[in-house]
Amino acid sequence: MYDPKSLKAEEFINHEEIMDTLAYADANKDNLELVDSLLEKAKALKGLSHREASVLLACEDPERVQKMYDLAEQFKKDFYGNRIVLFAPLYLSNYCVNGCVYCPYHLKNKHIPRKKLTQEDIVKEVTALQDMGHKRLAIEAGEDPVNNPIEYILECIKTIYSIKHKNGAIRRVNVNIAATTVENYRKLKEAGIGTYILFQETYHKESYEKLHPTGPKHNYAYHTEAMDRAMEGGIDDVGLGVLFGLEMYRYEFAGLLMHAEHLEAVHGVGPHTISVPRVKRADDIDPDTFDNGIDDETFAKLCALIRICVPYTGMIISTRESKAVREKVIRLGVSQISGASRTSVGGYYEPEPEDEKSEQFDVSDNRTLDEVVRWLMEMGYIPSFCTACYREGRTGDRFMSLCKSGQIQNCCHPNALMTLKEYLMDYASEETRAIGEKLIEAELKNIPKEKVREICADHLAKIEEGIRDFRF
Ligand code: SF4
Repeated sequence: MYDPKSLKAEEFINHEEIMDTLAYADANKDNLELVDSLLEKAKALKGLSHREASVLLACEDPERVQKMYDLAEQFKKDFYGNRIVLFAPLYLSNYCVNGCVYCPYHLKNKHIPRKKLTQEDIVKEVTALQDMGHKRLAIEAGEDPVNNPIEYILECIKTIYSIKHKNGAIRRVNVNIAATTVENYRKLKEAGIGTYILFQETYHKESYEKLHPTGPKHNYAYHTEAMDRAMEGGIDDVGLGVLFGLEMYRYEFAGLLMHAEHLEAVHGVGPHTISVPRVKRADDIDPDTFDNGIDDETFAKLCALIRICVPYTGMIISTRESKAVREKVIRLGVSQISGASRTSVGGYYEPEPEDEKSEQFDVSDNRTLDEVVRWLMEMGYIPSFCTACYREGRTGDRFMSLCKSGQIQNCCHPNALMTLKEYLMDYASEETRAIGEKLIEAELKNIPKEKVREICADHLAKIEEGIRDFRF
């Protein structure tokens, strides 16, 4: 039985409800009166249900699809402005006891080199990341209770936060590790993590079990209920995501929204972020073996609809996607992107030797952080390195209410400018810096409140003098 308030995976991600939803969407995809009313309803910024959203996804009328794109673009401007937050992944270990068939770290892959960063390695890697200008990391590790126990993850987080190099510091560590216990989530919370991220991979239980034939991840319920345990453990910000290409995208989309509805119904706050990865080529993995791959157009439509249907949730896109695809979807509502990523264990401090490659997947966007920052600014975006919300305790429902009230514009916009200024002063090439200075000058005028504008101008001048304020 479908029940969004239930704590049982099979009730809040109910298969029959998804199948009924897809049938309803098919029956109504040409009902333009309904589609128009849903687009109108979406303008109230209260989001759309999985059933309503699925009708929009099924609708192929070109005029209506264009309206979905326009609306997504509008929401992006209204709530996130032209800011794009930057981060980098840091792979700690690729030891893994699971059998995920789409991931090269699966246990049976005997030829990939197995690596695990020591604390000394972490100092080198994080220093290299700081030297690029990164302030926000997402740490990743395979599931292996012997090689990567929670104590190892906690030690790594402590090390990362302790590294202060020149003006650099990692101010927010998001964590992407396997589903775990309430007790372990509590420990992560105490370690000061930002968002806990866990991709569902697929919401389709039968496919999930086939794609995860062995290891603890095989347990669909334990994996799907992880966010409830994380929230019970005190983690306010959780990040959802599916791996598009594994199952029918329409099924995944409905499941993803049902998961968001469940979190809102039970915990009073939806997901902080949604990631939209697609299956990519990697060692031992050929994406063509998965027959549910989605083309770029469908991918863009999914991004636009996520923006419309869960307007207050950040959306993340990684370097799995090419520059061209990123360019297309950023304007449709993406709020965070990774830059200059290495998807191997190590590789920031020095490139991995050819015969020791340990990447989890091929990166499609290989540009440096400086190039990514410049590219964003040339498109009119403000690259932001801000981590203030989390540092000031604006997480979970406190962040959501700030976002819903529109106040975020008076808060995030100046913070973005100040952290960009720090980046330009400390790390940017001359060309990037020249573009950035002009952008900051123009954007300063767009801060609505005079008082806030004055404070921001004052901070910018201090940064110019070499004074850094680690609050952001
Ligand atoms: S996806 Fe995660 S759990 Fe699965 S094999 Fe890869 S690292 Fe292990």
